[in-house]
Amino acid sequence: MQTIVALASGTGRAGIGVIRVSGPSAWEVCLSLTGKLLPTRKAALCFLRDEEGDVIDQALVLLFDKGKSFTSEKIVEFHVHGSPAVVGAVLSACLRHPDVRTAKPGEFTRRAYDAGNLSVTQVEGLADLIDSDTEQQRKLAIRMLRGDPEKQTSEWRGQLVEVLAWLEACIDFSDEDIPADLVSRAKRIIADVERSIASQVSSRKFSERVRDGYQVAIIGRPNVGKSTLLNALAGREAALTSQYAGTTRDVIEVKLDMDGYAVSLIDTAGVRETTDPLEKLGIEKGLARAAEADLRVYLKENPEEIVNREGEKDLVVLSKCDVWGLPGVSGKSGEGVDLLINQISERLRLATNTSTIFSRERHFENLSNARDSLCVAISVLSEEVRREELAVAKIREAVAQLDSLVGNIDAETVLGRIFSSFCIGK
Ligand code: GDP
Repeated sequence: MQTIVALASGTGRAGIGVIRVSGPSAWEVCLSLTGKLLPTRKAALCFLRDEEGDVIDQALVLLFDKGKSFTSEKIVEFHVHGSPAVVGAVLSACLRHPDVRTAKPGEFTRRAYDAGNLSVTQVEGLADLIDSDTEQQRKLAIRMLRGDPEKQTSEWRGQLVEVLAWLEACIDFSDEDIPADLVSRAKRIIADVERSIASQVSSRKFSERVRDGYQVAIIGRPNVGKSTLLNALAGREAALTSQYAGTTRDVIEVKLDMDGYAVSLIDTAGVRETTDPLEKLGIEKGLARAAEADLRVYLKENPEEIVNREGEKDLVVLSKCDVWGLPGVSGKSGEGVDLLINQISERLRLATNTSTIFSRERHFENLSNARDSLCVAISVLSEEVRREELAVAKIREAVAQLDSLVGNIDAETVLGRIFSSFCIGK
């Protein structure tokens, strides 16, 4: 096993940069740069020197012992001043050691996984945590990283394995030897597990939204103030505004963090009768996107306009309220913008299932398959002539799906995909 080195903190200029060295020669690297071996897990302030003995930087140095580090290997971390020059010089000094090479993307985490320190879903959680922009993304990632998927899956698994033992007893022994209600008890447990899995499967859309963002469309007639409002919401000039109708010819999308939720704000081309083919195309595109959106904010142009849209997916708000002097929103003066943000995030909060612990397509695939198998098992056990063998086979299939969800994965393709999402130093 070679020793690897990389900058574990972000690239660029920063107060501190953390360089991590992991592998059998890590402590020798520490010795060659600091001139001494340090106690483990105790920060030591040291001068780091190059080959000629010239000081590169003064740094905090941390040593971790084999079996007691992230990768389970010997590790040394140099917390240096985070300039490109310092980081570059320390990296070169580490790489001068013959056993040391630059780490590949995700290699530290891969080593942690290979050492059994992290499960597959924890690796995914770690990737999501590093990628998280919003509070909701962070919370979902933490639930994964702390092992909630394993806990839940092993609970389901335990219940199913017990049921398997009962059903196998039914196959092996005659009816007199086993309790009369064993099959109905088994059915009840399978149904409980199936319901619990189904509730996680139903949070698939929520999980996708937390990761990729909720779609919120701003709709209304041309010139009602959609683009101006989008700019006010985004807090920056993101869409072209104009006093002429029909200038927003396409769908404009701005990604933002709204009270902890990732939101894709969509400004649609104003809806009106038009003969201009380009404008028509823009309107059609806009309408299609708005129809699919998780929430639509309909801007009404005057207080008298009767709009029959208030519902789960639509918020109706009076636009240009600075002109009317009535409650509503004004992208121009900013009145009502904070209230609208609260209303939007409240709707998203209500649409959010905060008990979700799974996040990837891969997880939901396994969960749906497991659930399908359990449904078959239940119906097979409900038939007049029960076929316990088939039920057992189906429950085993469900257990196998749960196993491949939380680990026990040896397929390099799955692992390769997960680790390739990491960058160097992670
Ligand atoms: P869109 O076609 O719905 O996107 O409308 P725009 O945002 O392009 O706005 C159309 C016109 O109305 C522009 O001249 C804006 O300056 C004006 N406008 C937009 N919002 C407001 C507002 O809240 N108050 C006032 N007084 N004018 C606004």
